[in-house]
Amino acid sequence: MLKEIEEKLLKEKESIEKELNKFAKEDATPDNWNTKFPKYDGDLESEADEVQEYEKLLSVEYSLEKKLTDVNLALEKIKNNSFGKCEKCGKEINPERIEACPEARLCSKCN
Ligand SMILES: [Zn+2]
Repeated sequence: MLKEIEEKLLKEKESIEKELNKFAKEDATPDNWNTKFPKYDGDLESEADEVQEYEKLLSVEYSLEKKLTDVNLALEKIKNNSFGKCEKCGKEINPERIEACPEARLCSKCN
């Protein structure tokens, strides 16, 4: 059961990193990514589009990065046998919840 979850998390990590790699660059700090600014072609009108595009990517980057952090944390917890417990109340997280979202940090009550 735990092995399956671990594999699922590793796959998820891989796909998040792949997604991030398309438009961002990993920072010197592990798990910190920076969105690359689109290239200018000197045209003011397209510059505005690029800023808009950049802002959109920034928010995508933010949510992917957050998810990646949670996935990594869940993998850590598997390693040190604390996986499946709510970070707030310490109770076991409902297995169905873990099934749907293995990187969940809180039980459904605390979430
Ligand atoms: Zn809880």
